[in-house]
Amino acid sequence: MPRVYLDNNATTPVAPEVADAMLGYLREDFGNASSVHWYGQRARDAVEQAREAVAGLIGADPKEIIFTSGGTESDNMSVFGVAGAARAGTSSGAKHVITTSIEHPAVLYAARELESRGVAVTYVTPGSGGVIDANDVARAIRAETVLITVMLANNEVGTLQPVAEIGRLARERAITLHTDAVQAVGKVPVKVDALGVDLLSLSAHKLYGPKGAGALYVRKGTRLDPLMHGGHHERDRRPGTENVPGIVGLGKAAELAAQRLDGDMQRIASMRDRLQAGILERIEGASVNGDASHRQPNTLNVSFEGLKGESLVMALDLEGVACSTGAACSSGSTEPPHVLTAMGLSKDAARGSLRLSLGRYNSEADIDTSLKAITRVVARLRALSPHYATAGAQ
Ligand SMILES: *Cc1c(COP(=O)(O)O)cnc(C)c1O
Repeated sequence: MPRVYLDNNATTPVAPEVADAMLGYLREDFGNASSVHWYGQRARDAVEQAREAVAGLIGADPKEIIFTSGGTESDNMSVFGVAGAARAGTSSGAKHVITTSIEHPAVLYAARELESRGVAVTYVTPGSGGVIDANDVARAIRAETVLITVMLANNEVGTLQPVAEIGRLARERAITLHTDAVQAVGKVPVKVDALGVDLLSLSAHKLYGPKGAGALYVRKGTRLDPLMHGGHHERDRRPGTENVPGIVGLGKAAELAAQRLDGDMQRIASMRDRLQAGILERIEGASVNGDASHRQPNTLNVSFEGLKGESLVMALDLEGVACSTGAACSSGSTEPPHVLTAMGLSKDAARGSLRLSLGRYNSEADIDTSLKAITRVVARLRALSPHYATAGAQ
């Protein structure tokens, strides 16, 4: 059975060039990057070369790149690091953080934890298209606001958020701005100065690199408490012996992303658009979630009337098509995806949603295979579904 992978927002395949680059650092070049001898220096050189590649991809200075274990750590480091280091905004010692209701759990649950520690948090909600209005962020700003954190691209519907606009607001008020750019880096151009961010999270396994490696961009002068305590690695911001193979993989992935961005973007967007048009043309009661004019090139989220996303995912898996109902980290949960309900979708429409996320290694043939499988599966499940019969009779 030909298999098609359309779950690139959960994780991407490792690029062959990345795997090749990493191998040497698992074998002969195994040194500790902090050691003074030859082995150590081989590892140190590789880490610094990767730092330059990551910095280059996002328009940063290599000194502003901190390697972490991935997107979750970079997000937590930003939320807790800024809240911890910030001088309280008022004499009462109160601190306030602004985020959104469509963040990845790595930001959302970190913010909730801050609340339980006495920090006030405002969760800005998006419009029905899944895009945050920068004016709503502006209205939420208080004298004691110490951090704004808004994701760049949403992982479930793919909407791009107005981070550059929020960056100008944050600059004017001297408030630290973080963006979770895990789903954007490598998919759309991302430059830290154009965005005006002080902190930016990225993750290797969302851009054809290995799992367990990521980075946090920290603008020079940003006050940030460390999350962990230990050695003097990463400019005293992140202790622990560097994950040299993972970092090398991330560096190679960043280098490839910079070379391939324009071509990949166009090719992937055209396949995604063909998949979307094909679904809407062949299947009744299908609607696209997320404002298509503010959407990254690879993501398509569709609700199918009368159906459950989980049933679709399972049936499609049996047909060789891998996709999801939304974030991989919430699969198994009976609650509808929080991003869709935050956008105002009914629970039924949110539960009937499917996320199809494309990547560099998909082909036009994959789109044909998926279209056929989706059409077949939707028809079969609907024939069995009492919900759809009722909806159809109305
Ligand atoms: C995947 C993802 C994360 C978490 O990154 P990990 O490297 O898996 O910890 C954070 N934010 C977004 C938007 C993501 O898609």
